[in-house]
Amino acid sequence: MSNIVFRAMRCSMKTNDCASCHDGFCTALRNTDFGSKNCPFYRSRKEQTEANNKIMEQLKERKRFDLIKKYHTSNM
Ligand code: SF4
Repeated sequence: MSNIVFRAMRCSMKTNDCASCHDGFCTALRNTDFGSKNCPFYRSRKEQTEANNKIMEQLKERKRFDLIKKYHTSNM
């Protein structure tokens, strides 16, 4: 049995509109302290959706149905 304990980290941005932000907590990073700088991993939900769609099209073009099945099953 694993002894790993996940501690949710507060998103460092105050806007709560990052694609990885849920209820003010970051679901992507273990450390969200960037000092006085903005988070360099911020991506809006719209930007994330566009990136996901682009990746899906590239996977289809390359006939990588194994990766689509593995990572994008909910988008099919
Ligand atoms: S990636 Fe950065 S901006 Fe996005 S939720 Fe995490 S800490 Fe916030």
